[in-house]
Amino acid sequence: MKKRIYLGLGTNLGDRQENLTRAIEALSLALGTCKAQSSFLETEPWGFESDNGFLNCVVAFDTELTPTELLDTTERIERELGRTVKSTGGNYHDRLIDIDILLYGNTVIESERLTIPHPLMHLRDFVLMPLAEIAPDTVHPTLGKNIAELLEEIRK
Ligand code: AMP
Repeated sequence: MKKRIYLGLGTNLGDRQENLTRAIEALSLALGTCKAQSSFLETEPWGFESDNGFLNCVVAFDTELTPTELLDTTERIERELGRTVKSTGGNYHDRLIDIDILLYGNTVIESERLTIPHPLMHLRDFVLMPLAEIAPDTVHPTLGKNIAELLEEIRK
């Protein structure tokens, strides 16, 4: 059974348009046709200081990969696109590309490698704004509110 998944992409180094475009191409090769793509959104660094602003977007795919296989795929694509440093313990860095698994159908996962829904997605405007463009009515499986409502909440 295919699951609808939403991925959050971000980059703040190099040719950021090119980085997002190449990531979406690599994801499409691995996962099949991209089902929806938000616009690219210019945002401030979140959680760390940097002069380099981010370009973010959210994309949707339907996949039969398991969550772990999906994470293996997104991490491989991050490496192929030149990302070397992973974030550990809440320390964030400039990065060529970051791919977060935001939602995997209605599935809820708490494992050593994966937390789905992404634990910070409902707090981040750079996730909720592009996600609301392509999936405003999708309901967050643990918070029980849709994406448009979650965006409204952080704007209050
Ligand atoms: P980052 O450096 O921000 O890409 O963080 C990647 C780390 O977060 C990896 O070690 C993943 O195992 C872990 N992780 C936990 N949940 C998620 C998720 N929903 N999407 C992507 N990475 C996740």
